[in-house]
Amino acid sequence: MTLPGPDLRSRALLGPLHQSVLVEPRLETAVIGQVRAREGWMPIPRFIFRGPSSGMEPLRLAIFSLVHGDEPAGALALVQLLVSAVRDPAIVRGLDLYCYPVCNPTGYEDGTRFNRAGVDLNREFWRGSSHPEVQTLETELRTQRFDGLVALHADCDSPGLYAFARGPVISEELLAPALAAAERVLPRNTEPTIDGFSARHGVIRDCYCGVLSPPPEQSPAPFEIILETPGCASLLAQAQAAFQGLRGIIAEMPRLYMGGADI
Ligand SMILES: [Zn+2]
Repeated sequence: MTLPGPDLRSRALLGPLHQSVLVEPRLETAVIGQVRAREGWMPIPRFIFRGPSSGMEPLRLAIFSLVHGDEPAGALALVQLLVSAVRDPAIVRGLDLYCYPVCNPTGYEDGTRFNRAGVDLNREFWRGSSHPEVQTLETELRTQRFDGLVALHADCDSPGLYAFARGPVISEELLAPALAAAERVLPRNTEPTIDGFSARHGVIRDCYCGVLSPPPEQSPAPFEIILETPGCASLLAQAQAAFQGLRGIIAEMPRLYMGGADI
């Protein structure tokens, strides 16, 4: 399938998904926003995979990667997750996955943390940002009102996996199986201080201001997880660890919600 628009790195990254959309009705794609660049308009894509019904209203999970353009492991994990779901939809039973694999198209094209305007998008959310990437994602977050958010990142300064758990208690309950699954691929960072925050078994409760997060007014608040892979590990290992972490969250989420967990 030939996609419209300039010949971008994201075209190669997302090629398998665009092929799958043609044959799998559970998988949909859309361009939710665009960033103007010298190459032309760069799309901010969204993929939705609707898992088989569990007999209840589907839970809506949003997964984001490449907010920082030089952290491609999360996007590889996200592509792998969607390809796996196409092969075996039962792995996402009871869930609708909303996936945003390339949140920072110019940063990914250039291999930089910042967007081409030189801005760290992950400090811009809910602060009246003028950047189209942030405005697009804020609109999406306001419109969709997700039950949970997962953002995938990489940290070159960390020797192991760790995560930020924000929002309701369920964030930490979901992180336990996620980190345990990811730990089969890469070690966990067990240091008491990570990235300047106090941490417990690789879990941080605090966070930077302005990170990609749900609308401040959303109630009840969705769970929020930011999964960080060690950025100096091989890309393949990071992607595999992030993929296993996502599988852990997806497997546990319906059980926790149906079990009436304290959210
Ligand atoms: Zn990052």
